[in-house]
Amino acid sequence: ATPAATMVGTSIGAKNGVLFKGGDVLERAKDVDTVVFDKTGTLTEGEMELTNVVPLDGHHATDGGSETVADGGTQAVSGGAEPTTDTIDEETVLRAAASAESGSEHPLAQAIVEGAEERGIDLDAPENFENVPGHGVRATVDDEEVLVGNRKLMRDNGIDPSVATEELERLEGEGKTAMLVARGDTLLGLIADADTVKESAKEAVAALRERDVSVHMITGDNERTAEAVAEEVGIDPTSVRAGVLPEDKSDALNDIQQGGRKAMMVGDGVNDAPALATAYVGTAIGSGTDVAIEAADVTLMRDDPLDVVKAIRISDGTLQKIK
Ligand code: ADP
Ligand code: MG
Repeated sequence: ATPAATMVGTSIGAKNGVLFKGGDVLERAKDVDTVVFDKTGTLTEGEMELTNVVPLDGHHATDGGSETVADGGTQAVSGGAEPTTDTIDEETVLRAAASAESGSEHPLAQAIVEGAEERGIDLDAPENFENVPGHGVRATVDDEEVLVGNRKLMRDNGIDPSVATEELERLEGEGKTAMLVARGDTLLGLIADADTVKESAKEAVAALRERDVSVHMITGDNERTAEAVAEEVGIDPTSVRAGVLPEDKSDALNDIQQGGRKAMMVGDGVNDAPALATAYVGTAIGSGTDVAIEAADVTLMRDDPLDVVKAIRISDGTLQKIK
């Protein structure tokens, strides 16, 4: 493109909240044939809310399994009676989880802590807090080790998560992120956070499809949750990569780009930075972290997935008028 055309494109972009890092990026974006969205904070609002607390009936990992069926889940916080050692109530599950998570800045953790506070539950200060990236957290709460996280976190610590399978799958099928809570060698229960899909996400996916751009989703979240969200926005389940560890996101992107595909990766988080750098065009969205913006070629000032389509259209010259 001529310098004048580049200037026009850059300026149209800026007026639309689409910032191109240089003329070559503006040139490249029109050739994008694949868009890879991060799920959390990109297709979804990234504002988690605690939605479920499900106590299990005191399953000991070392117990040989006298009782193996999950409680079913709607036990109310007890009004007065002290729980026996084998009866775990919602408050017990939530206090343990939120106390441990108060050491974390993860959006999942913040929702759990806020949820506990809203329910008037006093938290214990966690000791020896440890973040286990992509899996959860570990901390000492009231002199006992508490784990909050996914199945893998439990298995890696010798706790069998299988008693919770039915409840986990039910919550995940609703598109929620379900987490297991263990104290000592006991699985106390489950908690779930829900996120909301962004209003324009579905429209953005449809508009990309309309341009013959293939649309993928990549996430650290589990498969069932990811597929529920994908279905909601119109992404094919075969184009979803779930359970991707932060350090593996850029490998996953290389994989998608195999055979010469030109992918635009759209993400907001610290975890997304390597994948943004690996993509043909890396795009940081909205209130993205500084790290993401630094690694990106394009920054979308608003939190709107439709601006992904705009970026491509500005690049190919079909968006000449400013709306
Ligand atoms: P995302 O790609 O959605 O940002 P992460 O890679 O941060 O996901 O985390 C992947 C999974 O690990 C989460 O879906 C959750 O099951 C678990 N996890 C991560 N951080 C936490 C946490 N602080 N508390 C509980 N579970 C967590
Ligand atoms: Mg994320």
